[in-house]
Amino acid sequence: MTSLYEVSREELSALLEGQPRYRVDQIWHGLWNTNETLATLSTIPKALRASLSAQFPSSLRVVDEVASDQGATRKWVLELHDGSTIETVLMHYEDRATVCVSSQAGCAMGCTFCATGQAGFSRQLRVGEVIEQVLFAARAAAPRRLSNVVFMGMGEPLANYPVTVEVLRRLQAYRGMSARHLTVSTVGVAPAIERLAKEGLPVTLAVSLHAANDETRNELVPLNRRYPLARLHEACVVWNETTKRRLSFEWALIDGVNDTPRAAQELAAYASGLAAHVNLIPLNPTPGFLVRGSTAERVRDFRDHLEALGVNVTVRQTRGRSIAAACGQLANVAKAKRTTVRLRTT
Ligand code: SAH
Ligand code: SF4
Repeated sequence: MTSLYEVSREELSALLEGQPRYRVDQIWHGLWNTNETLATLSTIPKALRASLSAQFPSSLRVVDEVASDQGATRKWVLELHDGSTIETVLMHYEDRATVCVSSQAGCAMGCTFCATGQAGFSRQLRVGEVIEQVLFAARAAAPRRLSNVVFMGMGEPLANYPVTVEVLRRLQAYRGMSARHLTVSTVGVAPAIERLAKEGLPVTLAVSLHAANDETRNELVPLNRRYPLARLHEACVVWNETTKRRLSFEWALIDGVNDTPRAAQELAAYASGLAAHVNLIPLNPTPGFLVRGSTAERVRDFRDHLEALGVNVTVRQTRGRSIAAACGQLANVAKAKRTTVRLRTT
């Protein structure tokens, strides 16, 4: 099933053969540069809207909506045409609105602390299914402008590489979003980071590091066995050198596991040769992971220690925890099988 957000302008032209030429521009503009849907595009004759809507139904159906932070964070459970479900989160900040999109239904990477990873993989999302999440959130954000997209929902965007890159290109070229406001978050698929660096897309890259020694990272992020820290480091160097842009390291603080003075030293050493910024958040609770997030005090101490070691570091605010809308808490996968993992603490 194709989405209208997957067709090119030429294909749209061909679809509208027999219609006056300005219709192509009107519809293209309406789809990409307004917050309308086909159904509400009142400049287009009703019969044409109806036939296009029948041919290209919306990819997403809302099955649940929850809000927290006085409405500043909203999460939707969206059903796709085959019954798979994904989650999309909209976050309002003072100066901007950001949507957190899913790139896959579920995730095959199996990170032990992540609800999506605990639930397993259903399928890749299509280009239209990702873009429609963005436009859906843009409508919900209005009148505020949706300026930022982060690929921090369900799934590993670099394991759905062609779709991710096409979505980034389309949002930049057709929606007019600034590439630097588009953030790809990856668990560390090293060759794909290097490939992305060469796409000529000045997007923002976030690498979910969480540990800077292989023993701990192997336990948290199974993909580390395939692309260990040294290999990931090479990819980060390629990113810095090819794009001339810095990257960010995401670090979810887990009590007694990666919030220790030793962990801070390892992270500082790992980041030292790179243009990198570290984002800290306390681990969000998930049903399958028995170790707690660090206390606010330990988060502060860890940050101070990193700063003393010369690392650029920010503590990120967590949004939507109470509605399971925060990073790593998205798990609304149909028929999900959960596993519980015990982790050794030091
Ligand atoms: N697969 C990609 C993007 C989706 S996960 C990735 O892993 O980067 C989005 C972010 O949530 C990642 O930084 C991930 O490490 C983080 N995350 C996963 N589980 C979490 C949890 N329980 N608490 C806090 N952050 C978590
Ligand atoms: Fe997948 Fe990212 Fe969760 Fe790991 S943290 S399981 S890569 S969604």
